[in-house]
Amino acid sequence: MRLQLQNFTKCFDGTPVIEGLDLTVEDGEMLALLGPSGCGKSTTLFSICGIYRADGGRIMFGDRDVSDLPSQKRNVGVVFQNYALYPHLTVEENIAFPLTVQKPRPSKSEIAREVRAIAELIHIENLLERRPAQLSGGQQQRVALARALVRKPDVLLLDEPLANLDAKLRLEMRSEIRRIQLETGITAILVTHDQVEAMSMCDRVAIMDKGEILQIASPTEMYRNPVNKFVAGFLGNPP
Ligand code: ADP
Ligand code: MG
Repeated sequence: MRLQLQNFTKCFDGTPVIEGLDLTVEDGEMLALLGPSGCGKSTTLFSICGIYRADGGRIMFGDRDVSDLPSQKRNVGVVFQNYALYPHLTVEENIAFPLTVQKPRPSKSEIAREVRAIAELIHIENLLERRPAQLSGGQQQRVALARALVRKPDVLLLDEPLANLDAKLRLEMRSEIRRIQLETGITAILVTHDQVEAMSMCDRVAIMDKGEILQIASPTEMYRNPVNKFVAGFLGNPP
């Protein structure tokens, strides 16, 4: 589903951190939001999923204005840097959780079927009985991704999902996340401050600085024609 921010503004203590931002993520597209720490990436994601309420403008999921909906009523899947799995629940129960609080609540067999399907897609069928403490960092992150996707959300938001992983796992999970995004065809935003990650995983990259988007382009286009010195400097040399 296409996602749009129109003239979006978000303030903290009366001061705008993001002002009049326009951004479109096309249906089925994976867009990287790339920029230095503190530029407003997480604030943008938190506003899309409804944790923060916009102070101006609109957030559209397809043709639906979701700006005034609380987060429970926006069908968004999120994975944040600290996976925050429920430690007392098994992997199966963690993944099932978003379905058990859904209204109307699906039947037990439906829930079991959906959990099984997403676990197979993400290659964690063999981990369903375990608890989070018995998983590696990469496995925990796969479970977080399964939990985010089990309700077949309209959009998937990933906030620095690879930041806590070691270099080898990070490489593996880059291609895994991209594979899963392509297989599900879900519209996704990947927030990162790592340019190689952004360029290697996404269809287009949006460079953000101080609450503004300076340029949106495909990775190739961005390397070929950076719009200004900040973008060029931020990208460094092609990998
Ligand atoms: P990023 O994710 O790009 O590192 P953030 O979106 O977290 O940046 O932060 C953008 C700006 O908004 C920063 O200056 C940050 O200090 C400020 N900010 C973020 N969250 C809050 C908050 N809850 N209250 C006040 N200021 C905040
Ligand atoms: Mg952040």
